Order: sequence, then C-alpha cells, then structure tokens
Amino acid sequence: MKQFDFQIGRCIFLRLDYGKDLLEQLSEFLEMEGIEAAHISGIGAVRNAEIGYYDQKMREYVKRRVEGGLEILSLSGNVSLKDGKPFPHIHAVLGRDSEIYAGHLFAAEVFACELFIASLDGDIPVRELDELTGLHLWI
Ligand code: ZN
Repeated sequence: MKQFDFQIGRCIFLRLDYGKDLLEQLSEFLEMEGIEAAHISGIGAVRNAEIGYYDQKMREYVKRRVEGGLEILSLSGNVSLKDGKPFPHIHAVLGRDSEIYAGHLFAAEVFACELFIASLDGDIPVRELDELTGLHLWI
C-alpha cells in the first residue's frame, strides 16, 4: 500500500463546453489552474463515447466506441501527475433507454456536462509504470 494525505483545497463546479472532448477540456482546465491532485465527479450527457476496461491477462485496454447520445449516469475519478502533467483518471456509467455502458473513459464529446472538482493539497501522487500490472500506478 501507499498512502497520500491531503487537505481539501478549492472546490469547483465546472460546466464543460458543447461539442468538445470531455477529457481534453478537463485536462486543459486542470493544467491552466495548476490542479495536480483532485477528486472528480460529474453528471450530464455526451455523444460518441469511447469506454473500456483493462484486460488483465493481455495487459492492455480494450476500447469500445458507442455512437450517439448517452446520459452520464455517474462519473467519478481522480487527478494525479503523469509525465509531469495533471492526469485525470475517469470512470463512467453511461446509458440510454435500456442500454448501459460502463468503464474507463477514454473519450466523449460533451453535450452537457457538470463536473465537481475538489482539489487536494498535500502529497501529490505521481503515476509510474508498474511492472506487475502494466498500469501506471501511484508511486
Ligand atoms: Zn481506469
């Protein structure tokens, strides 16, 4: 285990722009504001999402593209440093009618999205490649 201790810093409501990628907008905002550690949650709606899971045997992400409009039923994640930049790691549950898609979020075009960002002050976790899992984990 590895523990990181924080105090909650700035808390922000962020409404993202229509038509632009969710993660790109979030990354740009985090970098602009100098937020290196945070808890993220959000709701809203997106289009044309790319979502997936990590295949533990193959040690690679399996991605699936879902076309069309989707509700963000739940979005949560964290921010830490990777390659010297704030890196948002986001999971989402997306749905419409009786369809549900859930997993690691790679991309999604924003229709309307409201995020809550709780920035954290303290030991900033840095992601480095972990040989055991093949993932970039906090060191
Ligand atoms: Zn993930």
